[in-house]
Amino acid sequence: MKTDASTTPRALATEAVHAGREDLAALGVHAPPLDLSTTYPSYDSRAEAARIDEFATTGAQPDGPPIYARLDNPTTARFESALARLEGAGSAVAFASGMAALTAVLLVRSSMGLRHVVAVRPLYGCSDHLLNAGLLGTEVTWVDPAGIADAIRPDTGLVMVETPANPTLAEVDIRAVAQACGSVPLLVDNTFATPVLQRPVEHGARIVLHSATKYLGGHGDVMGGVVACDEEFARLLRQVRFATGGVLHPLAGYLLLRGLSTLPVRVRAASATAAELARRLAADPRVAKVHYPKVGGAMVAFDVHGDPHAVIAGVRLITPAVSLGSVDSLIQHPASISHRIVAEGDRRTAGVSDRLLRMSVGLEDTEDLWRDLCGALSAAGPAEVAGSAGSARTEGGIVRSLHSAGL
Ligand SMILES: *Cc1c(COP(=O)(O)O)cnc(C)c1O
Repeated sequence: MKTDASTTPRALATEAVHAGREDLAALGVHAPPLDLSTTYPSYDSRAEAARIDEFATTGAQPDGPPIYARLDNPTTARFESALARLEGAGSAVAFASGMAALTAVLLVRSSMGLRHVVAVRPLYGCSDHLLNAGLLGTEVTWVDPAGIADAIRPDTGLVMVETPANPTLAEVDIRAVAQACGSVPLLVDNTFATPVLQRPVEHGARIVLHSATKYLGGHGDVMGGVVACDEEFARLLRQVRFATGGVLHPLAGYLLLRGLSTLPVRVRAASATAAELARRLAADPRVAKVHYPKVGGAMVAFDVHGDPHAVIAGVRLITPAVSLGSVDSLIQHPASISHRIVAEGDRRTAGVSDRLLRMSVGLEDTEDLWRDLCGALSAAGPAEVAGSAGSARTEGGIVRSLHSAGL
């Protein structure tokens, strides 16, 4: 859905609860209606044919009543409109998942003959895999941010970065990278920072991708993806979405719109806790290295001296599970789970060590989380620096973790 650029800009917290809901009072309702229709009646098939032609040629969201749920849904359109507003983008197009959203972006570019992608590691494991496997007929060149300009070819259709990146929380300078891209569109996966902490369009990114499954939904109960971009690119994405069918379910659209209303509050509260946990972990002798981004956020990653699998097995309050961005805290071992699909050598060069754990900090009390983490870290064995009775157990931990990494 296109946003109304003539509206006076309002603060993010205000947009979060009002964007996408502007017409509700006129409709005489307070909560957004949930429209589950798959099809819509029309007694004028000439007019409907003209509207279908219009969509096929322009990709503009058809005016008037919807036609078919793969083309258009009013509940999902509310979420799209709100997310575009939060990201400061002209439009947004929602998909069934973050991976469906990335797929559509790649198909838009490769259908124009622009099959080459320049990307910076690390990326989310499945994004890395989708590019590296060339499943969609794309070819990828992996570079450091400084190598982007040199890697661009005449057939380069996209530059892709994630910042902070999953799972190491490595950051790239979006403005510098956008400059290096020249006329090639820059896609920034903004799943970790969310528009609360970072709005990549303001720094020159043309395409902003979200796994809406994470912070936008925020409660671990809805899967979705969304691309915020200019209306010109959104039109191409809608056409690909219609052709390939990776649409967001309207109930998911409803839940995502509801999730957006608390996004600023959730992200700020969880980030404050995450920053405090990062400080404590950095001072803990059982922890080798802490990764916490300058932009902040609710994700913390850390390398342990002991057995990372024992930490996962040792948590009681924190849930040992993949995914992130929920109201409750989750922890996982990227080399085993989220980045398992990335070849071991590529994981290593991306800085994903076998000792790395990634924690998604939720809204629990800081002291309760710290107590749980401390208990789990103790279960992983003492720091190697101890050099005493504990070291044998620590070595056992290393061997176990190498085995589980496929060595
Ligand atoms: C989870 C994730 C994705 C993929 O999203 P799905 O909704 O699981 O398809 C993409 N990028 C990042 C950074 C993610 O964390």
